[in-house]
Amino acid sequence: MGPTDRTDVADPLAELLAEAERFRQCGSWRIHHDSGAMVWSPETYRLLEIDPQQAASFELLLERIHPDDRELTAASVRQSWLSGRPFQLEHRLQLADERISMVLHRGETICDASGRALYTLGTLQKLSQQQSRQLELEQAINTDAITGLPNRLASIRYLTQRIRELPYNRQAAIICLDLDNFQSINDSFGVEVGNQLLLWCAHYFRLHLHANDWLARLDSDTFLVVRSDNIGNLSEAIQLGHHLQDVLHQAVPLLDAPLPIQLSACVGVSIAPDHGSDASNLLQWANTALIEAKRQGKGSLRTYSTAISQAIRENLDLEQRLARAIDRQELQLHYQPQWDRQQRLIGAEALLRWHTHRGEDIPPARFIPLAEQSGLIHSLGRWVLERALAQLSQWQRRGLQLPRLAINISGHQLDPDQEPLDQLLLGLCEQWEVAPGHLEVELTETALIGNPTAAARTLEALAEAGVCVAIDDFGTGFSSLASLQRLPLQRLKIDRCFVTELASNAADRSIVKATILMAHELGLSCLAEGVETQEQMAQLLTLGCDFFQGYLLGRPMPSTALEQLIKPDLSQPAQMETDIPARSA
Ligand code: C2E
Ligand code: MG
Ligand code: MG
Repeated sequence: MGPTDRTDVADPLAELLAEAERFRQCGSWRIHHDSGAMVWSPETYRLLEIDPQQAASFELLLERIHPDDRELTAASVRQSWLSGRPFQLEHRLQLADERISMVLHRGETICDASGRALYTLGTLQKLSQQQSRQLELEQAINTDAITGLPNRLASIRYLTQRIRELPYNRQAAIICLDLDNFQSINDSFGVEVGNQLLLWCAHYFRLHLHANDWLARLDSDTFLVVRSDNIGNLSEAIQLGHHLQDVLHQAVPLLDAPLPIQLSACVGVSIAPDHGSDASNLLQWANTALIEAKRQGKGSLRTYSTAISQAIRENLDLEQRLARAIDRQELQLHYQPQWDRQQRLIGAEALLRWHTHRGEDIPPARFIPLAEQSGLIHSLGRWVLERALAQLSQWQRRGLQLPRLAINISGHQLDPDQEPLDQLLLGLCEQWEVAPGHLEVELTETALIGNPTAAARTLEALAEAGVCVAIDDFGTGFSSLASLQRLPLQRLKIDRCFVTELASNAADRSIVKATILMAHELGLSCLAEGVETQEQMAQLLTLGCDFFQGYLLGRPMPSTALEQLIKPDLSQPAQMETDIPARSA
């Protein structure tokens, strides 16, 4: 009994077939879900150019569909079967002699009274040349020109559809793969070889994937694999990611390159619906995990859940706690002494400490960047300034004269939409009756480069008032001394990373030597950070370094401990106060 026999069909079939007949070159098919048996009309055999003696089957139908359209077509039919909804798509047929023809493929599923799918019916209508051209255009929009694979746009469409039809308890694995060193392959062997490699990867991945897996090229050297069969959980998705990395690692592609190219790739993984059900978001999650993986190094794999969502949650939690830290009085300033060549105390650096009410000590390297991202740095920075000046003022009243107190300033504190730092700091000096000459501000190279004009204006104003301006962590940024020359600098702080191996590393010694020479040439003094050993100290003295700070000479300590190091200023009558006084303003 063929589909042209209408005696056994329900009304929808009759309607569909009647409509089909209105068109020339329109074939139809029907698949019975109980038996899996398929029947085709004679026109379908003709359209697909298949001998009518051959038994019709869904696999045979798929064989005639262009490989790039096959998965989407199969998915559309499957979805109609599972959901009972009609489907419609335009796709290519791959005929003999590489001929392509375009068809409009429509269908629907007929269910019994209980909603059980009985059969799915489809029609195939050959499209006119004009329609074909339009479709070709659409295909071009959805296809990557180099590899012929579907692109991002097509992937989002595909993924949206796949997620909708995922059976209960099943997941779709979304794997983003990025070739390591692709840029240098391109640079060393040329774009042609780069393109060959992409095409080779497309074929090679296809070879190692299941027929139902989706393979696409998202951009540059990033491929996407979606597997929605047989994935039950994240670890199965990770396994697939590792498998793809392994097969790539074992391959040696034959390219027009003078040397064999050893391949490896980083992988980012997300899964649906566990990580969400929006296709664009899922691709983004996998891509964010990929960025994390690349940050870790070649051949790494990260998943969205561990790499990102946990970090995001932790950061959010920490950020919320940091927002309350001032009110909860969890913050404190510690002071690290700074010394000259004769081991006289020349000042101290104020360093922020966060001791949470839960008893954790969170290091500034963890919470300062978070404060900068969230904007909390402004209230935090202000708190540090107020606290530091209050402390300095209290010491002065007690006759303890610390020559200079250095305060770390974040680049964000120079943002033009904030109260200008010079106004804020000099205002506080007045309030606390502290001479600006007792203050130093420390800024990193990156902080200055981020906002050079605002930085220059603010620092000029501070320097004019007598505040010492220092460059912190010098050598870790990308600025040359010449580019910083325009700023009213007085001191360079040589980063600890150059001091650590000073005794054993000739390169570090040369850098420190050159920095000190150049700084002196420009009229700046040099302070070495992170001095931990006598050997480092001796080297720094030989190289002509002016000032020193580090565990060897004193760790960051509470104010009461620093007081023991400060000599009383006998010229000033001391006021006996133990607590920080109220503001004088
Ligand atoms: P930094 O300004 O370069 O501060 C020096 C860091 O090196 C401090 O770390 C200090 O404890 C540490 N250090 C000093 N001597 C030694 C040594 O001999 N060996 C070793 N291993 N480390 C030494 P800390 O306190 O963890 O601060 C880290 C960074 O956090 C600071 O680097 C600074 O960039 C930032 N920071 C700290 N307090 C503040 C603040 O109030 N405001 C801002 N914006 N940033 C701050
Ligand atoms: Mg500092
Ligand atoms: Mg530093």
